[in-house]
Amino acid sequence: MKVVLASGNNGKLRELTALLAPHGLTLLKQTELGVISVDETGETFEANALLKARHAAQVTGLPAIADDSGIEVDALDGRPGVRSARFAGEHATDEQNLQLLLQQLANTPDAQRTARYRCVIVMVRSADDPQPLVAQGAWEGTLVRANRGEGGFGYDPIFLPVGSALTVAEIDEHTKNTMSHRAQALRALVAQEPWAPR
Ligand code: IMP
Repeated sequence: MKVVLASGNNGKLRELTALLAPHGLTLLKQTELGVISVDETGETFEANALLKARHAAQVTGLPAIADDSGIEVDALDGRPGVRSARFAGEHATDEQNLQLLLQQLANTPDAQRTARYRCVIVMVRSADDPQPLVAQGAWEGTLVRANRGEGGFGYDPIFLPVGSALTVAEIDEHTKNTMSHRAQALRALVAQEPWAPR
């Protein structure tokens, strides 16, 4: 079964392909099928993932998978959340977003610097699928006070997963890809057997 991935991100394609190929699902990147990404106007991760998946299914006529993710900071009542990529402005860089977060947490004591990466993945069989499959993953941690490490992206240099002495930017990519919010959401999606008839 062919499925379109509503993302142009090669890292996501690799992660998803590895998990879905053993079940006979072939993933195609939406950019290769001429799909132009939609604006992420939803107020929740699920709403945004659904927007992207339905759009990709609409344009290609294929089943589609999409994800949406971000970081929720408890001391900021869950912000930046769905706005993680544009926290410091519409065209902000990862470093600008991270620095703004550090600034807003400057007076927050260590014990209250808890946060989580969250990811929601959805799969639709068609653009108007009334029963999308929805799966989610969360990766709990705390936020350190200055960047540590060169790997990863986004908020990884300040995100210290629970039980880890290293920030996500200090751990290797393979380890991240087995522990992350995205990996957890993917496994939860696969557990719902998206290839089975519904
Ligand atoms: P997207 O869902 O891939 O568009 O990610 C949205 C934003 O959430 C990214 O631009 C990052 O700011 C943040 N984010 C999501 N996943 C991660 C991660 O694994 N590491 C660091 N930042 C992340």
